[in-house]
Parts: sequence; structure tokens; C-alpha cells
Amino acid sequence: MTSTESTDVVVIGSGFGGAIAAYHLAAGGARVLVLERGPWLQAEEFEHDFKLGSSYTRVFDFVVGDGMSILGGNCVGGGSVVYFATMPRAPRFVFERRGSIGRRMWPASITRDTLDPWYDRVTEALPVTRQSWEKVPYAGGLFAAACAHAGRTANPSPSAVDVDECVNCNWMMAGCRFDAKRSLLLNYLPAAVAHGAEIRPLHEVQRLTRLADGGYRVHYRVVDEEDYRILHDSGEIDAKLVILAAGSGATPVILQRSEPDLGRMPHAVGRYFSGNGERLNTAILDEDKVRDVLGLSRPDGSAYAAYQIGRGPTVASWDRLDGSLPEYERFSLEQLYFPPGLGTILAQVPGATGPSWFGLEKKEMLRQWQSWLTIFTMSEDDNEGVFGPPPETGNAHRLSMQMLGDGPLRYRPTANTWRGWSLSDAAVKDILERDGLARVAPWTNDLVGAYTVHPLASCRIGDDPATSALDDRHELRGHPGIFVTDGSAVPGALTVNPALTIAALAERAMPGIVRAARERGVAVQYGAPAPDGSTAARVAVAPTV
Ligand SMILES: Cc1cc2nc3c(=O)[nH]c(=O)nc-3n(C[C@H](O)[C@H](O)[C@H](O)COP(=O)(O)OP(=O)(O)OC[C@H]3O[C@@H](n4cnc5c(N)ncnc54)[C@H](O)[C@@H]3O)c2cc1C
Repeated sequence: MTSTESTDVVVIGSGFGGAIAAYHLAAGGARVLVLERGPWLQAEEFEHDFKLGSSYTRVFDFVVGDGMSILGGNCVGGGSVVYFATMPRAPRFVFERRGSIGRRMWPASITRDTLDPWYDRVTEALPVTRQSWEKVPYAGGLFAAACAHAGRTANPSPSAVDVDECVNCNWMMAGCRFDAKRSLLLNYLPAAVAHGAEIRPLHEVQRLTRLADGGYRVHYRVVDEEDYRILHDSGEIDAKLVILAAGSGATPVILQRSEPDLGRMPHAVGRYFSGNGERLNTAILDEDKVRDVLGLSRPDGSAYAAYQIGRGPTVASWDRLDGSLPEYERFSLEQLYFPPGLGTILAQVPGATGPSWFGLEKKEMLRQWQSWLTIFTMSEDDNEGVFGPPPETGNAHRLSMQMLGDGPLRYRPTANTWRGWSLSDAAVKDILERDGLARVAPWTNDLVGAYTVHPLASCRIGDDPATSALDDRHELRGHPGIFVTDGSAVPGALTVNPALTIAALAERAMPGIVRAARERGVAVQYGAPAPDGSTAARVAVAPTV
């Protein structure tokens, strides 16, 4: 059954880019419909197990590509529901990056200074707070002590977790039952709904077509709530303005599928994808050495004292975020709790000469699981990912009822990307293998290729139409009225976790988007306070339209 409705604005996706746009437009008076392909779950529905059909498998999207897999959110709230909520600002040098194109990647209008007021707004809205050492779980303290032992610094990371509510349960990737993690379910999205926005879960957008009046028709299918491979009804919504915020792995796919009807897409749609230069290293600590060298110990046999328990990342080393270093040699190191399941399966035996997913050595490694310390590294890659051609529906060919798909991303790391990975791997070894503290197993691409939980740049902003899909107001070149506000708009790797930057860019884009909506006949104002009504962070820039 196909039906056609109409509204002012359709927002596609309800992660950071979608939620922020939905809130500002609805608060300003526009009629807003949010279409989200995943389910809409609340705190009490987030379950602590890995069973098929639990929140864990329902809210994730794991898409295997050729050389790069992407892990993301699949639910109302998007990646904010499953993320670790570490929220640093990108370092100043990131905005000056030249990358593979050999000239500034970011639009001239965006620097760390011009983005700071927008970072302030998101920081107030979620909120993001600094953590004290007293609240850092054991694993974070241990990494900090190892860094100090190696002559490096490490500090608690800024975080969107209310640490007084957090019980360190280690299930934050399945969604937070305690509402301690400040996901979008607690701020922008309820505020958007309070202002009249309608959110429709299990609605997967397939493509856009153009209307005679300059508006757009959004074509969606309803997804079965248990078996995501099954698509039910289809529908169409006519809108004066469309915000694409389906995430970096899906936004370019929707646009590529729409090309036959919408007309030629900018060259950069589906190109220049960045995995944010990520790697996972697994260190197996020698408990005797930890005691002798660092003077730290935890009670034997107590699961909850294991390094693997706690919040996600709590402590990071930012010594290499130094703008005077050459590009591709700058990276951050982050202690990370990565839960059993994926992390346990993929971890390689330190020093193994071949793949070691299974076997006796792996069994021995698993026996020592309490002594694992995972270090996540983020370096500068070369924007070498390319999407296409699009699958028939969705962003991937779905392989299982939930979670797993096979997508159209191809990623061939260049020598520059390998330099960043190798240097960050070496830094982890230098810190954790010093004086025999641990044996470190770096990530290997040999088995499943690279992976990322921070997909970026597949539809990026920029000043040069040849290498950017969007102008610096986030409007799709050649297609007025289509704006992209998710991670795909970020020009390249950030060397730190990206959600705060994605959100700050979305906040920054909003005055221009509201102006464009007005020009298209939508009765809407810009100027809403933070979702809870706060205005303290809204004084530095107050653009009105
Ligand atoms: C396990 C994990 C941990 C992370 N930890 C951190 C962290 O600590 N700090 C940090 O900064 N970042 C973290 N991230 C990354 C962060 O979650 C993302 O960078 C961020 O959510 C991206 O925001 P977005 O708006 O680009 O897209 P998303 O948040 O991914 O939102 C896109 C939404 O669009 C929906 N969608 C996709 N296709 C369609 C379609 N066709 N129709 C309708 N809806 C669609 C998706 O279901 C999703 O809800 C983590 C990610 C993961 C997976």
C-alpha cells in the first residue's frame, strides 16, 4: 500500500544530525516528520544480554564492506544510544588538514575558533562534563599509570555520562538502562516531540524524487520489527525541505539511489569516506608486573574488578595531538572497555604469526580475560573509502534478521593511513610492553579488514565543488533544499571521537537551514534555547533569521 502525505520538513535518521535538526525546526514552528529505520526503545527496554532479538541486536547495524566494516546505531537516537559518550572537541590542527587533496579540506569559514560556540551549545544540551579521577574505573587508572610510567600524559576524557547515575555495568553498548548515558533520547528528541515533531520508527527511506514545485518526495518502506530483511508497506511524503542524517554509511547510498530521478550528484557523494583512522589493540597485562612496576593490584577472581568492566573509554592520552607534527603522524590513544562478543572474538593472540581467532593460544588468551586492557587509537586516514553501486533497498544487503549486512563500501588504505595506524600501534606497545607490563596484540586487517565505529566524510562539506558534496551551509550542491547534517558532512578524520563535532556542525548549520526553509515558504524561526530551556551557552553567537 502506498500513501502520500505532506509536511514542511522530513528528517531522515534520528542520530546527532537528525535529532538536532528536528529539534530546532520543530521548536521554530515547522511541521517536522522524522523517519528512522530502527526501533524506538526506552531505558527499561535495554537488555543486558546478547540474545537475538535483545536490544543489543536490534539497535546495532554492522555492515561488512570490502576492506572496511562499519558499526553504527539502528534505532531512534541513532549512534547516541549505543555510543560510549566520550565527547572531546577536535584539536585545532584538524581544521587545517590538507589530506589527500593537498589543500585545506575544511571550508574557510570553519576553524576551531568559529566552531567553539557551537561545541558550547551541544556541551550544554546533552550535557557533556569533565570527569574527575575519583570517578575513573580501574582500567582507566591503570592506563594512566602505564602512560606516566612511559613518560606520557593521560587524562580523564570529557563525557556525556552522568557518572553519579552510572553503575559501571559494562552494557552501555546495548543502551543505558539507567539513563546515565546522555543519549539523544533524553534531550533533543523529546524536546523535538514536545514541539510537535513526529518520529516514525521502523521507517526506512529508500530514495528521494523531485516535485514540480521545487520540493522533494521521500519514498520509504516500513521495516518488520523482528526481521529487518522483511519490508512491509511503502509510503511517500512530500516536503519543502529534506534533512538527510542517516549516517555516513547510509546517506550517500540514499543519494546514489536517487540519482536517476534527482539528476547528477556532486562527484564527492559516496567518495572520500573516512574511518577516522581507527584501530583496536588488545593488551594482556601481567598482573605481577602491574603490581611490581606500577604498584597497582585488584582482587583476584573478582569479575567486577577486571579491566574489562566499566564505562567505555574514560582515559585518553593526547600527547600526539600536536599540530607541529606532520599530517598522518598525529593520533590519540584511548583506554576502552570493549564488551565480550565482537571484541573477544576479534582479538588476536599477541605475537601470533598467523590469524588466531580460535585455537589453543586463543583459549589461553581468553582464560586471562580479566587482564585484558583494550586501547583504541584514532589517527588520520586518507579519505580513501568509496561507495557504490547502491543495494536495492536500505544501506546494505541484509544478511541476518538483525544487525548484519553486506554493504557497498570499498576501502583500500594508502601508505599515509598505514603510517598513522603503525605509529599509533607502536605507541601502544611502547607504553604497555615497557618493563614487561603486557603483551600487545594490534588489530589486523587480514581477517575482516579495517573497521570503524566513527564513519565520516562520505558526503562532505567544503569550498571546492570538485572534492565536496555540500557547501559550507551543508546544502547538497546542485540540489537546493536538501541538507546533510550527519557525520558524512565532516570533511575527514578528527583524531578523536567525532560525535561532539558532528553535533556542533549540525548546530552551526541550523540558522542557514531555517533561512532556507523560510525561503521555501515554511513558517519557522531560529533561536530555540537548549532542549531543557537553558540559554547560558547561547550567548556567544546568536544568529537570527
Ligand atoms: C559502539 C560505538 C561506540 C561509540 N562511541 C562513541 C564515543 O564514545 N564518542 C563519540 O564521539 N562517538 C562514538 N561513536 C560514534 C557515534 O555514535 C557516531 O559518530 C554518531 O552517532 C554519528 O552521528 P550521525 O548523526 O552521523 O549518525 P547516526 O547517529 O548513526 O544516526 C543515523 C541514523 O539514521 C538511521 N538510518 C540509516 N539509514 C536510514 C534510512 N534509510 N532511513 C531512515 N533512517 C535511517 C540509523 O538507524 C541511525 O539511527 C560510537 C559508535 C559506536 C557504534
